[in-house]
Amino acid sequence: MEIIRSVDQMRRRSAEFRDAGSVVALVPTMGALHEGHLSLVRLAGELADVVVVSVFVNPTQFGPSEDFERYPRDLDEDARLAADAGADVVFAPEAREVYPAGFETVVHVQKLTRKMCGAFRPGHFEGVTTVVAKLLNVVRPNVAVFGQKDGQQAAVIERMAADLDMGVEIVRGPTVREPDGLAMSSRNAYLSPEERKDALVLHEALEYAEQLYRCGESDAALLLDGMRTLIGSVKGAEIQYVAAVDAKTLEDVPELGPGVMFALAVVIGKTRLIDNVVLGERKRGEEAGGSHDDG
Ligand code: AMP
Repeated sequence: MEIIRSVDQMRRRSAEFRDAGSVVALVPTMGALHEGHLSLVRLAGELADVVVVSVFVNPTQFGPSEDFERYPRDLDEDARLAADAGADVVFAPEAREVYPAGFETVVHVQKLTRKMCGAFRPGHFEGVTTVVAKLLNVVRPNVAVFGQKDGQQAAVIERMAADLDMGVEIVRGPTVREPDGLAMSSRNAYLSPEERKDALVLHEALEYAEQLYRCGESDAALLLDGMRTLIGSVKGAEIQYVAAVDAKTLEDVPELGPGVMFALAVVIGKTRLIDNVVLGERKRGEEAGGSHDDG
């Protein structure tokens, strides 16, 4: 596996891959790779001949009081894990290469970034879309793989790629969880053992909503209330938002159905965690008014 540190070299190498007729996939990450990231690398390997994993802790998507400085970084370990998962290239540019002197362009997706995480992290999505647009321009992949874990981010990037005719297919990979249900995240490392237990309430709230939906409940407001009450019962948990939205358009939905995403952001101690679940089809017998019995 190659490690490429320069933008020019990455651009040249990608052109060689394309000229050889290879389908190229990009998996953008900020490193500190865990099983969630690695599942995306493996998915990329199923979709393409060549898998490029970018590792770049992007300063412009962190707010001034956020964790840019202390964000975990270990390129050697990331390269080892990425290679094991089937990556062909790790692209890890320096910040000064990505943002050279004089840099002043931003990519801004308007409506989709105003709500949910965007309301609590001003400038965050502009940082994400700008860096992802640059990574897509350098690597020029056929496919780029993002995690459903960051559901709003995936929707924003799909919008950007379509609006700017980027000619790349955006694919979402499913959320990978710890055995007890906590969504894997590089930020879980910040949690104390006590906070780690409190953090389970994110998944519990989503499971509660999904279960009731499966049992026939369609009233989003009712389930959002229940989720808020459940999370409110954990002393160390502070809700930023709980939402029921269309997973693609992020419009609020009053009535639940397939493709609706329950999404939330909760601060546990000092650590901000997000999670979501996208509702599927109700199985037969689970429609509104359907039986709650197994048998
Ligand atoms: P990050 O390094 O946090 O910027 O994440 C890089 C990519 O990995 C993003 O597309 C995330 O949505 C995705 N990702 C992060 N955590 C998970 C997870 N637990 N399961 C699946 N994908 C994830």
